[in-house]
Amino acid sequence: GAGHKKPRRVVLKLSGEALREDGSQDNISPEIVGKMASQIVEALKEGVQIAIVVGGGNFWRGISASNRGMERATADYMGMLATVMNSLALQSMLEEMGVEVRVQTAIEMKNVAEPFIRRVAIGHLEKGRVVIFGAGTGNPFFSTDTTAALRASEINADVILKATKVDGVYDSDPAKNPDAVRFDDISFHEAISRRLKVMDSTAFSLCMDNNKPIMVFDMNEPGNLKRALLGADIGTLVHA
Ligand code: UDP
Repeated sequence: GAGHKKPRRVVLKLSGEALREDGSQDNISPEIVGKMASQIVEALKEGVQIAIVVGGGNFWRGISASNRGMERATADYMGMLATVMNSLALQSMLEEMGVEVRVQTAIEMKNVAEPFIRRVAIGHLEKGRVVIFGAGTGNPFFSTDTTAALRASEINADVILKATKVDGVYDSDPAKNPDAVRFDDISFHEAISRRLKVMDSTAFSLCMDNNKPIMVFDMNEPGNLKRALLGADIGTLVHA
């Protein structure tokens, strides 16, 4: 929108579901991951530093398993491991396109990824590498949206780009209400008073308290990641 300044450093939050092809048996579609990777390559050409947090919902969600009798903490650790699979898939497709990528995990698994070390992550970003943060925060009872909020604060990102199935934040559910209106931008406080669900409350609070704006947009549309970076009128910017 008006007055938008190109960010220097961003955290891109991808949901696990976004990596799956509708109706497919496979949890990850290499073709879809490849399409995401090409959008990331396009965005890198704008000179923006990109860190990525990917969810695990295409494999597993701790809370669903715990609702069905499994212990929550264990189920959550399984969810965190799922995010590592998604991280590796993204790394692989990005590397196919010539991008240097480092996966850093919040749970150590040295044979497949680096451990999360904040200062090393920043060093990679400054060298133009993509950094993918796997295994969430490393703690059960949190989400990967919270991970995105936390890592964005830690690495001083200018904005969190939250890729979703809808093209922004609406005043009511656009799937149910044909008259739903999309916001170009909205403040944290107004989003709360209107009870709009942008992220889970832990993630949202962290963004608000640390003044990390959230850009909600639809990345299924080719070219949208670059558009979001350049401030085109797509999606919704949630800000202070
Ligand atoms: N998770 C967790 N701690 C974290 C991040 C994730 O326990 O810091 C677990 C949790 O069980 C969650 C799962 O990993 O359900 C997958 O993450 P999420 O649901 O955020 O993925 P998304 O919905 O974005 O695909």
